[in-house]
Amino acid sequence: MANLTVVGGGLSGSEAAFQLAERGHQVTLHEMRPFRGTPAHQTDFLGEVVCTNSFKSVDPTNAHGLLKTEMRALGSILLRIAEEARVPGGSALVVDRHDFARRMTSAIESHPQIRVVREEVAELPSAPSIIATGPLTSDALSIRIQETLGEAGLAFFDAIAPIVSDDSLDHESMFAASRWGKGEGDDYLNAPMNAEQYTAFIETLRGAQSHEGYDWDAVPYFEGCLPVEVMAERGEDTLRFGPMKPIGLRVPQWGGTRAHAVVQLRREDKAGQMWNLVGFQTRLKIGEQRRVFRMIPGLENAEFLRWGSIHRNTYLNFPARLTRHGSLPDRPDLIFAGQLTGVEGYTESTAVGILAAVNLDRIARGLEPTVPPPTTMLGGLMRYLAESDPRHFQPMNSNFGLLDPLDEPVRNKQRKRELLSSRGQDDFTAWMESNGIISADAVPVL
Ligand SMILES: Cc1cc2nc3c(=O)[nH]c(=O)nc-3n(C[C@H](O)[C@H](O)[C@H](O)COP(=O)(O)OP(=O)(O)OC[C@H]3O[C@@H](n4cnc5c(N)ncnc54)[C@H](O)[C@@H]3O)c2cc1C
Repeated sequence: MANLTVVGGGLSGSEAAFQLAERGHQVTLHEMRPFRGTPAHQTDFLGEVVCTNSFKSVDPTNAHGLLKTEMRALGSILLRIAEEARVPGGSALVVDRHDFARRMTSAIESHPQIRVVREEVAELPSAPSIIATGPLTSDALSIRIQETLGEAGLAFFDAIAPIVSDDSLDHESMFAASRWGKGEGDDYLNAPMNAEQYTAFIETLRGAQSHEGYDWDAVPYFEGCLPVEVMAERGEDTLRFGPMKPIGLRVPQWGGTRAHAVVQLRREDKAGQMWNLVGFQTRLKIGEQRRVFRMIPGLENAEFLRWGSIHRNTYLNFPARLTRHGSLPDRPDLIFAGQLTGVEGYTESTAVGILAAVNLDRIARGLEPTVPPPTTMLGGLMRYLAESDPRHFQPMNSNFGLLDPLDEPVRNKQRKRELLSSRGQDDFTAWMESNGIISADAVPVL
């Protein structure tokens, strides 16, 4: 068994260290706290949750719940400890954050195969490693990663526009076309507005409530990437001359005339299950996003797969720079994990940490890395990371739009989720079996 390194003792790195150790390796886990803090962490604990104390749903017919069934199959320490520190929260896995982090720290620090080193890592290690330094990766390491991946390989802020599901849209009120007829013709869905609809939309947008955010989270807004509500504040026509410009588009439903304004939705996946509201990065509160954006023609019943947000976040341009399992192309044994890879959220970051450990273990044993199929939630996330358009790459959370569609369309939403979930669980089990992957809990003690 090998000596392996994990950098970052957050959710992803702690889980990865545990997974590697349970698979028989000697692991050195580097965590820079308490000697160097982050603007969000408050304690010295490993696996600290920095904001909400909820790991979201455990219901397997929910996208987050499905991801948890996959993590459980791999023997996730996070889920085991979250159960021990659980407080009432309905179908959500809610924890006492202090108890959770204390138990997590104890489990990692007392593991006979793990050595925790409290120091900042400022270089990419030359030995086989997992890098899981999170959305607030220290400056020194960020600079080194950027030098390795190039200027466009690392982002420091995200400006996320909402994504809606295709089957929740009213396609009758929209039309497929690219501006000036460029591209494939159906790369974009367009929601046209007349002057009256536009004015009502702008007024509602101006009156909507935004998140206050954290002081340290203050984002330097770039002119090309202003929140949609800030653009609306600048003037009645700012959006009409910006992301909602109607030029280059004729509305077939209106006899080929031009609209007063158009919201464009860009395809997020090849199957066309997810659509991104182009230029609608926002800090509006979630309820407000639902209320305001459902005023857009065709989005009256929109299901939001990802909410808009703008905050500080260090993440890699995975599709442009990394292999399918998240390594540097010339270093399959240097694997990135956690939020740094471009997933968003506690459980997503942790799940990617487990997969990184599974793959570093495989590489150490002379096996090829593997990723689950895109009918599973972890496989869907990994496919999103690997195959997104690098020009528009933005962090993503778990949602059913990431999965391959069912062979037969199912209209009933609950039934559809049940079918996607049971197919995902079966395929995840089959993937583990066909690759000889067993749960960390089940690895025999040598
Ligand atoms: C303010 C804030 C609020 C958030 N709120 C939520 C939320 O409510 N729900 C949610 O699901 N997600 C939330 N997220 C996202 C959340 O941070 C991630 O989902 C999750 O913590 C990522 O896990 P991670 O292990 O990748 O990173 P982290 O948990 O951040 O762990 C990274 C670790 O690496 C350490 N580190 C950094 N650089 C170095 C270095 N050079 N050397 C050694 N150690 C280093 C850090 O100290 C840290 O312990 C939030 C993020 C932020 C910043």
